[in-house]
Amino acid sequence: MAWIDFASDYPDSLVIIAWDAVPTGCTNGSRTGECGKIGGRQASAQNYSQKGSQSLFEIIFLGTSASAPSVKRGLPSQVVKKDEYRFLVDCGEGTQRQILQSGIGFKRLNRILITHAHLDHILGLAGLLSTFLRWETIDELEIYASRLSMERIRELLFGVVLRGGNPPMVLRLREIGPGTIFETDDFSVSAFGVQHRGSESLGYLFEERSRRPFIPAAAEALGLPNGPIRRDLAAGKTVTLPDGRLVAPDEVLGPVRPGTRLAMIGDAGSTDGLARQIRGADGLVIESTYLQEEAGLASEFGHLTARRAAELAVEAGVHQLFLTHISRRYREKDVLLEAQQVFPNVVVARDFDSYQVKKEDPGAKPG
Ligand SMILES: [Zn+2]
Ligand SMILES: [Zn+2]
Repeated sequence: MAWIDFASDYPDSLVIIAWDAVPTGCTNGSRTGECGKIGGRQASAQNYSQKGSQSLFEIIFLGTSASAPSVKRGLPSQVVKKDEYRFLVDCGEGTQRQILQSGIGFKRLNRILITHAHLDHILGLAGLLSTFLRWETIDELEIYASRLSMERIRELLFGVVLRGGNPPMVLRLREIGPGTIFETDDFSVSAFGVQHRGSESLGYLFEERSRRPFIPAAAEALGLPNGPIRRDLAAGKTVTLPDGRLVAPDEVLGPVRPGTRLAMIGDAGSTDGLARQIRGADGLVIESTYLQEEAGLASEFGHLTARRAAELAVEAGVHQLFLTHISRRYREKDVLLEAQQVFPNVVVARDFDSYQVKKEDPGAKPG
């Protein structure tokens, strides 16, 4: 992985406005529970209300159109949220306006993962950086992309937007290949190769770490107080109680449960080899540019049909399929119907939809 850092020469005093569009005290009933989103559909899901990391990933679709925007759909971009982390996956033209309209805000939106550098997936980077030069402030921005993609991104940002100037924040351009690209104690993000017209395209897999659920009843039976003792046991450490008793993690932890997994794939000319990368994922986001009646065009231009995307979902044994990169040439319901005939648990994403992806039963966590 190559890291290229560009420190900012801009003093903080030049920052005029910092806007974070997530409102507080939201009273607008049309918005979601997080007081952030305007319009769009939200999947109903039980929130996991235990303390600590939630065992889920949230996806917010910012742009769901293929190649060019339509009246209702912006160019490709999605946000993946996990606890306090946010990842922008692709940044098509107009993404910054979609960010504003979604209510997500720019704060903490400082990691951008690019699937590939076709213009419908990267032009928004120029607008975003341009805005950051004038109005917005974040301390650091990381852009992850393959070497080939980064070449074009670098030209766009340094050749067109900055033209010899400095970025308004620490800008890290991270050239990546297949493998783990980001990790915390709770989850990791890894990249894998995707075939799409020789674009050195990457898909991204978000994976929670497997863990052993904490069994509150067992802790109660042992008379363990809430707090550090339970947390240490949950972390796999043996603890000594104030009365001298030793308690081993096995006494309060259940069997290992795999974490939630979310796969994000951009454009794809073929699904060969992808099932292996995403097997058993709880959610799969992937393009669906064509219908089967135009499968010839799909292969000519290196894209998938709705049916082919759905077949991948079956082959990989994923739980939920989200189709995006939707062409103006089709009606949404036709895309949905074609996919549903192969894989029933599918939605055709719309701009500003948000979904929670999680395991059916994430298990308990320590109090
Ligand atoms: Zn595209
Ligand atoms: Zn493409």
